[in-house]
Amino acid sequence: MSRSEAVCVVTWPAFDPADEEISSLLETAGVQVRLRPNVGPRSGEEVVEMMAGASAGIVSTDPFDRSVLERLPELRVLARTGVGLDSIDLDAATELGVVVTRTVGALEEAVADHALALMLAALRRVVENDAVVRRGSWDRAGAFTSAGLHGASVGVVGLGRIGSAVVRRLEGFECEIVAFDPYVQEASVPLVYLDELLARADVVTLHAPLTPDTRGLIDAGRLASMRPGAVLVNTSRGELVDEAALVEALRSGRLRAAALDVFVDEPPATPALLELPNIVLSPHIAGINEVTVREVTRRAVGSMLDVLAGRPNPGIVNPEALAHPRHATGTEPG
Ligand code: NAD
Repeated sequence: MSRSEAVCVVTWPAFDPADEEISSLLETAGVQVRLRPNVGPRSGEEVVEMMAGASAGIVSTDPFDRSVLERLPELRVLARTGVGLDSIDLDAATELGVVVTRTVGALEEAVADHALALMLAALRRVVENDAVVRRGSWDRAGAFTSAGLHGASVGVVGLGRIGSAVVRRLEGFECEIVAFDPYVQEASVPLVYLDELLARADVVTLHAPLTPDTRGLIDAGRLASMRPGAVLVNTSRGELVDEAALVEALRSGRLRAAALDVFVDEPPATPALLELPNIVLSPHIAGINEVTVREVTRRAVGSMLDVLAGRPNPGIVNPEALAHPRHATGTEPG
């Protein structure tokens, strides 16, 4: 393979091909970009087709499982825009010599901002009250009277970078905060078991990664053990929540409201989620704002170029993959 043949498929929908700094970096490195923005679910077959011949990918949530990776013998690096790695089979990638990078540090504060925005929107019934005004009503103390965040009890599930950033914000609201994280021993807020958190919290906010342990974590039983009238906020991954059970809990009034940025299928395939008035929705944009878009792109491009050139990069998740013969071919792109 010659330098000029390095192809990078970009599925990150916020990638701006007109950005001069990024374009110049890619051009200097002799990397040709093939834009394939992720605007909905893709099958493994579609991913294989889309990635054909590429040495690199700057990828969103497209599925790179073992069967996909095994069919991409030229692929050397997958730069994941964001931090969640659940869409990539990391063991298979390492075994096959595909280096995976992610953009830790670029978007966590934005996700925490959005979790608070969703929390406040759900509690304060912002969307429903917006509709009141738009239909010409001025109903200030009736059916749409809201709850508040100040002084509420909030349970944070997953106390990593984002969960901790959410805690810092909630402290300003003088909330009573508890957290559940089986891998954290010390924290600035009381750590409790999940069942206790669910029984205590007026608001439960999810910030754990999608793993075999967290898939379906908030199922029908756990929803039933939440405080009557509680609110569920999810900016982590849709699969943490049983969506059908959530719909029932919202329909019955057992839960006051939910606010979701992430879904099992994206766009969401559970129609009731779109129909119930007491759900606030956003299209998996918690980590995206005007600042983070550029920073995530810059870091993903930088890590992708570093891996292709054999340079170290702090975003690399599986450095062991660099020992694979795929990285010893002298195909440095510029
Ligand atoms: P992180 O690794 O810093 O923190 C995750 C925390 O979850 C860790 O402290 C870990 O110990 C904890 N955890 C693991 N298993 C758990 C379990 N079973 N129960 C409770 N806690 C558990 O990650 P982060 O940067 O805080 O990101 C968290 C997640 O947020 C990501 O994995 C990703 O899925 C999601 N995310 C979403 C968006 C978005 O746009 N909506 C953007 C970025 C990240």
